[in-house]
Amino acid sequence: MRVTVLGAGVVGVTAAWYLAADGHEVTVVDRQDGPALETSFANGGQISASHAEPWANPGAPWEILRWLGREDAPLLFRPRADWWQWRWGLQFLVECLPARTRRNTIQCMNLALYSRDCLHALRAATGIEYDRLARGILQICTDGRDFARAAAAAERMRHYGGEREVKSADQCVAIEPALAACRGRLAGGIYTASDESGDARRFTVELARHATLRGVAFRWCTTITALAVDGNAVTGVRCVNERGEAETLAADGYVMALGSYSPLLLRPLGVAALIYPVKGYSLTIDVSGHRGAPTVSLTDLARKIVITRLGGRLRVAGTAELSGYGTELDAVRCEALLRRAFDLFPDAGDRASAHFWAGLRPATPSNVPLVGRTRFANLLLDTGHGTLGWTMACGSGRALADIVAGRNPEVDFEFTKAA
Ligand SMILES: Cc1cc2nc3c(=O)[nH]c(=O)nc-3n(C[C@H](O)[C@H](O)[C@H](O)COP(=O)(O)OP(=O)(O)OC[C@H]3O[C@@H](n4cnc5c(N)ncnc54)[C@H](O)[C@@H]3O)c2cc1C
Repeated sequence: MRVTVLGAGVVGVTAAWYLAADGHEVTVVDRQDGPALETSFANGGQISASHAEPWANPGAPWEILRWLGREDAPLLFRPRADWWQWRWGLQFLVECLPARTRRNTIQCMNLALYSRDCLHALRAATGIEYDRLARGILQICTDGRDFARAAAAAERMRHYGGEREVKSADQCVAIEPALAACRGRLAGGIYTASDESGDARRFTVELARHATLRGVAFRWCTTITALAVDGNAVTGVRCVNERGEAETLAADGYVMALGSYSPLLLRPLGVAALIYPVKGYSLTIDVSGHRGAPTVSLTDLARKIVITRLGGRLRVAGTAELSGYGTELDAVRCEALLRRAFDLFPDAGDRASAHFWAGLRPATPSNVPLVGRTRFANLLLDTGHGTLGWTMACGSGRALADIVAGRNPEVDFEFTKAA
């Protein structure tokens, strides 16, 4: 069958890979001139399968209130005259209810753990390189109350399959010696040895190369403007191609993987997809010649920042801002990331080499991605992965290929239905 995948981020390219493995004739369409040039470009790098709980939880509204009015807040809501922003925000509050949080946690954990297994199998099959480090993920707490909460959460998450171990401050330093520089401020940490990290962009670029060898075609510099439909079937993808000409690309099946932009093309068809861009920042610094950069991937719970070693670089990523589709850099938020990284690790790297970036997480209020069928028989969704697109890409792509092939996906997950 001929399948067109819309979007060449980590999610779209991974789906294309699994579809091609099933023998489909796959074309991937993207407006950029290469893979992973939007949200998958410079993310936190964590494959945080055991930490895949949603942002929406009973404590989240209080966290947001605590930081209200601060320009450097890790979570920031910038109100706009935008119905979808408010609709998303209200649903986020609903998802903070305990029963919803429990359901969402199970969904995210199931898909994330499955995805990690799929990534391992994909790596074994292809030998793909992406600055992978399998040294685990350590959540560090610089506040005693945060530590107590994180320890209680670790206990709960064990029921869902998350292998989290509570560690004292000294044990944290034993796991990641670079933490010696901030030992005095550590209250403790939570460690997951089985989690890992790597460069999502490098992975996507490499996988696109492997996919090309497998026959996948890529249409770059091609902007999708609409989906053409007839009855309950999509008949083509309307786009402006690399020569600036209008073109309609026809296939037998279509996979929506446009990240934050997915709802803009789905809404005109009446397909519900409550996805809103949640802006995040990262900085990347050169660590060569410096001895103080960590190699274990870290999550700084107080500031909601992740710190990941990617070969000779250190990536520091975080902050969440509900402010629409802009990706401009805010100097205050950039500076807050940089300051915190060097506060914790004074000899982490070359401060002057810091390269800042901002991307839009395609977030659903529940953090549960939309993967599966729609009311259009040949239109499938693989989108809305929010904070966990790198963590969940392989599992989503593999399950999507199963659905296309009429197989039952191997993961217990609430896939979207043909409704
Ligand atoms: C600061 C930050 C840190 C993060 N850290 C992590 C982490 O540590 N671990 C983790 O698992 N996840 C993390 N994430 C989330 C992760 O990066 C995303 O979930 C993931 O990149 C989404 O991938 P995607 O393929 O769905 O979207 P994208 O990468 O945005 O891909 C969508 C593609 O669609 C294309 N496109 C859009 N509109 C059109 C159009 N009209 N026509 C043609 N092409 C179009 C774009 O060019 C793009 O290539 C982080 C995100 C941010 C912002």
